[in-house]
Amino acid sequence: MTGTERLLRDIATEVHYTRDLIGRDALDPRVMAAMAQVQRDAFVPADERVYAYANGPLPIGWGQTISQPFIVALMTDLLGCGPQARVLEVGTGSGYQTAVLSRVVAQVWSVEIIPDLAATAHRRLAELGYANVETRQGDGYLGWPEQAPFDGILVTAAASRVPPPLVEQLKPGGRLVLPVGEPHGRQELLVLDKDRDGKLRARSILPVAFVPLTRAAPRSPPSEDDDT
Ligand code: SAH
Repeated sequence: MTGTERLLRDIATEVHYTRDLIGRDALDPRVMAAMAQVQRDAFVPADERVYAYANGPLPIGWGQTISQPFIVALMTDLLGCGPQARVLEVGTGSGYQTAVLSRVVAQVWSVEIIPDLAATAHRRLAELGYANVETRQGDGYLGWPEQAPFDGILVTAAASRVPPPLVEQLKPGGRLVLPVGEPHGRQELLVLDKDRDGKLRARSILPVAFVPLTRAAPRSPPSEDDDT
């Protein structure tokens, strides 16, 4: 069994165990195909590569993490976006979720607040040939107004409340998937639907643990990444 095959099996198992919460017993085959296609080892630091196909988060420097594959697959599935969709991601991080999204929708725009991570992910996605992806460094709380409105918006860092600019940049009929809650405490994954009249309906899916959505990039890397 290859690493990817094992990972797909582990994701399917976790989907099964959480089926009562997530309301399905299997994810969209298009999402699973994307998970099979994107090589996660290209998105993790060299010294973490042996764990690339384990179903867990991994450190990517600057105190940030590449999300757990099950969560990446679940959020992509929950977004419910088809091959024509234009999608915004907030929190590029390693670029892994960006790459998975890009296999499922037409075009992805992704914003990362930490300049080093933004630059690395940008280079990596270009080198790997993900052509329908645009990334930039900035505060994703503010969205990407020049490219709005979006069919779907996916946030991979937890805010204490839903950022109003993101709701604004969602098309009527669009969907926002995001973790909401305390920075290092209780958080829940929310699905927010904007109906044709612009009215919002929220559903809570399951408890999650994401890094916080910050409003300013840290000035220096945390000590664990300090080489000196
Ligand atoms: N999707 C990423 C997850 C990275 S963790 C992956 O698959 O690797 C969440 C990321 O959100 C971190 O890189 C963090 O720096 C970033 N982030 C936090 N607050 C942000 C903000 N306001 N705007 C954009 N990115 C932000």
